[in-house]
Amino acid sequence: DAKNRGRNRYCFYDSKLQAKVLARSALHTGLRHALSQQQFSLHFQPQYHRDGQVLGAEVLLRWFDAELGPVSPAEFIPLAEDSGLILPIGAWVLQQSCQQLADWQHDTLKADWHLAVNLSVRQLHDPKFVELVRNTLQQTGANPANLVLELTETQLLEDIEAVIVKMQQLGELGVRFSLDDFGTGYSSLSYLKRLPLNQLKIDGSFVRDLLDDPSDEAIIRTILALGNSLELAVIAEGVETVEQYLALRNLGCQQFQGYLLGRPAPVAELSTRHQTPGL
Ligand code: C2E
Ligand code: MG
Ligand code: MG
Ligand code: MG
Repeated sequence: DAKNRGRNRYCFYDSKLQAKVLARSALHTGLRHALSQQQFSLHFQPQYHRDGQVLGAEVLLRWFDAELGPVSPAEFIPLAEDSGLILPIGAWVLQQSCQQLADWQHDTLKADWHLAVNLSVRQLHDPKFVELVRNTLQQTGANPANLVLELTETQLLEDIEAVIVKMQQLGELGVRFSLDDFGTGYSSLSYLKRLPLNQLKIDGSFVRDLLDDPSDEAIIRTILALGNSLELAVIAEGVETVEQYLALRNLGCQQFQGYLLGRPAPVAELSTRHQTPGL
């Protein structure tokens, strides 16, 4: 009867919820030891100029746990943010990235390459963050101009005034900023003007449907025009096919990132690519 069905349904949801809570706590336990157990590594995904030149790469965090196997950042980053673990984890990513930049500076082919590091807004709000970036740059000797900090549009909008102050302080160190997943939030143009940005990153969702959906094409056109008028570089992420790449080029896009041009991979693979393959 209805009462029984109701109870069963309740039990069903309950056990599903329980499984979720258990999975979450297993992840959390694993995550707490991941740094000390050296389970993190970094992948690098190349970013290209339309002339075929490698500009640098985006740094993407990877976690391999002995019991859990590989865990996607889409899964563990939110958990790291909620628990505060993102602060030591983010500091490690920054340290490794700056060390990599410093290493490249001795190599004439790579001396100008940048690295784009993803930030959580929680790191930005940490009172010690500006000091951390300054010290990491100093200790490693990385050129601040080659360090790009990526912030997502939606994260930024939460506490915009505080974010602007922090970005200005970091900007004074010489680092640059890219606005990630652009187009998925609702940035007002007046805010965009006030943020010390250097680049907009077109969200991969618009690139994915670019050839089929006229409104996605319109959005990409608008972002490119916005970049032009605000004098910001624009990069497209998630470029998977030649057709998408050519369509983006036709719309005037200058910078590209995606599986077509290079998958995220260990740093050694990155250094072998100097030309846009097959284009
Ligand atoms: P994101 O910053 O927008 O990074 C782009 C994501 O798209 C990456 O997923 C990348 O592997 C994937 N991707 C690259 N090219 C393509 C493509 O052509 N097609 C498709 N379908 N996907 C592509 P990933 O590595 O799983 O990272 C997911 C998200 O996790 C990132 O999104 C970023 O927000 C976050 N994340 C990664 N590393 C870090 C980190 O060190 N710190 C913080 N705070 N967040 C990070
Ligand atoms: Mg990113
Ligand atoms: Mg992105
Ligand atoms: Mg994205």
